[in-house]
Amino acid sequence: MKITQIEVFVLKTELDTPFAFSQGWVHQRAATLVRVRSDNGLVGWGEAFAQGLEPPEIAAAVIEHALKPLLIDQNPLDTAVLWQRMYTQTRDFGRKGSVVSAISAIDTALWDLAGHFYQKPIHQLLGGATRSSVQPYATGFYRLKGKNEASRLADEALAHREAGFTAMKVKLGFGVEDDIAVMQAVRMALNDDAVQLMVDSNHAYGRSEALRLGLALDELNLRWYEEPVVPEDIGGYVELRAKLRTPLAGGENEHTPYGFFPLFQAGALDVAQPDIGSCGGITAARDIVAIAQACGVAVNPHVWGSAIAQAASLQFIAALPVPHASLYATEPLLEYDRSSHPFRQDLVTEPWGTIDGMIAIPKGPGLGIDVRMDTVEKYQTN
Ligand code: CA
Repeated sequence: MKITQIEVFVLKTELDTPFAFSQGWVHQRAATLVRVRSDNGLVGWGEAFAQGLEPPEIAAAVIEHALKPLLIDQNPLDTAVLWQRMYTQTRDFGRKGSVVSAISAIDTALWDLAGHFYQKPIHQLLGGATRSSVQPYATGFYRLKGKNEASRLADEALAHREAGFTAMKVKLGFGVEDDIAVMQAVRMALNDDAVQLMVDSNHAYGRSEALRLGLALDELNLRWYEEPVVPEDIGGYVELRAKLRTPLAGGENEHTPYGFFPLFQAGALDVAQPDIGSCGGITAARDIVAIAQACGVAVNPHVWGSAIAQAASLQFIAALPVPHASLYATEPLLEYDRSSHPFRQDLVTEPWGTIDGMIAIPKGPGLGIDVRMDTVEKYQTN
């Protein structure tokens, strides 16, 4: 079997209402999708994670110009071999960011294609399902104005709970005092501890502000405090982790086992959050989990992309072991972006919903999805 074709689809759409996270205003949703074909007619889909401020054309150019020549005529089942080739051949200008996101999209597509070849879901190829369903948590609480939105955000928390979410993550990083006011309003509105809360500042602060916020958050019994400082500041994570009770999470802006290893070695994280669409795909995420397990760190994938990225995350979570096994071990959650995204769910023929607050892991071959070409073509810009 040989890879005969690799197509890249750049999808974009302007948002009617832009929203902000701590790093800026998001005006569009975008995705870099890839479709790999083999000479026996099999197809695999993958997606490169496009950050809110990241032009999707970067990963598309990497796939087109740097990766495609390495892959055509190769055996698509050689997922590990091809990962090494893509990584080593881009090492001198890659290792992080959009280059590794491009590798991630290809790697995911190869696993999807392999699943269709073996007629098994990806989680079966990874060694089987540790769980058949996963609890989603609502990611939202973006800003529509900027500061002073505590009461609207408290209402949003109630709306997520009304929609069946019992776990949710609040965006912070808009000034420590504003952040504290938001969290007090949200906690007061929910009025009980049955809802699990997490926060995410998207590395808005330096160590001292991150600590001041963290000490206030310690009173709220959060599941985790995400990206308190910039991803480069491993020492900052270590310092905060020593001074705070709240578990620290991070890793959506880290890449490959080479990038995660120093974080684990330093004891920087309680929860590692590789994004399958940017950490190097399924192949890299599997290796990241192996190192995390050895270091006693939980892995809970980050996902903010379209249905293809969500499907990859679902397949990966199905196979994910818990770091500390027990009768009532803490299970991983599926990040479920509730912010505006015009084509996220429309990309697949059977979008998933929740049953009793849980999302079932698709059992079909590969990613377990059928991609809708009418949606791809509607939003395609390349
Ligand atoms: Ca985040």
